[in-house]
Amino acid sequence: MLLLVSSPSGAGKTSLSRRLVADHSDLTLSISATTRAPRPGEEEGREYFFKTRPEFEAMIERGEFLEWAIVNGHYYGTPKAPVMAALEGGHDVLFDIDWQGARQIAEKAPDDSVRVFILPPSWADLVRRLKARAQDSEEIMHARLKLGREEITHWAEYDYVIVNKSFDRAYADLGHIYRAERMKPGRNPWLPGFVEGLGQEQV
Ligand code: 5GP
Repeated sequence: MLLLVSSPSGAGKTSLSRRLVADHSDLTLSISATTRAPRPGEEEGREYFFKTRPEFEAMIERGEFLEWAIVNGHYYGTPKAPVMAALEGGHDVLFDIDWQGARQIAEKAPDDSVRVFILPPSWADLVRRLKARAQDSEEIMHARLKLGREEITHWAEYDYVIVNKSFDRAYADLGHIYRAERMKPGRNPWLPGFVEGLGQEQV
């Protein structure tokens, strides 16, 4: 399963996604590459793979991305190889990406993709959370808010929408979505053999 999670910046998507991955050993987080500068506390290979523009463009040329997009004037992209390796190892993959990336991946793999959009409970709440994060200059924060308005216009393209009023509630909802999608018959190729075995059991 490809679990695609999008939201405007500050709606809690990253915390929700990282917690879901931490709580499910069969779910792997896709680490994106970006040309934006690391924020304080961010580490190479943990939040992102930080690249220069020439490095990123060379990766595009070599076809190394599953999808890529320009967000806020910076390149962001999903490296293909780790995703394929995780899927081949029987893992599901969670993507914390914007609507452009979610759309590209869902078009490539419609049956395997599940799209979840996280909304803030109010615009004021989003502004407050971005301010509390205090990682960005006033100018960058305004750019993020503008981009957030654009991101929100795509909410109806998603399979599920969660309003993040409380972290615990939103996290429980995300977990329910993941578990329910995991139980779809097509996602469990072992089921036919299992059911056949049930029919042959002697009682
Ligand atoms: P930030 O700079 O706040 O970490 O991320 C800005 C936006 O880029 C967020 O909406 C984030 O989900 C999105 N993003 C992060 N990685 C990728 C990616 O690999 N592809 C796409 N399309 N968007 C991404």
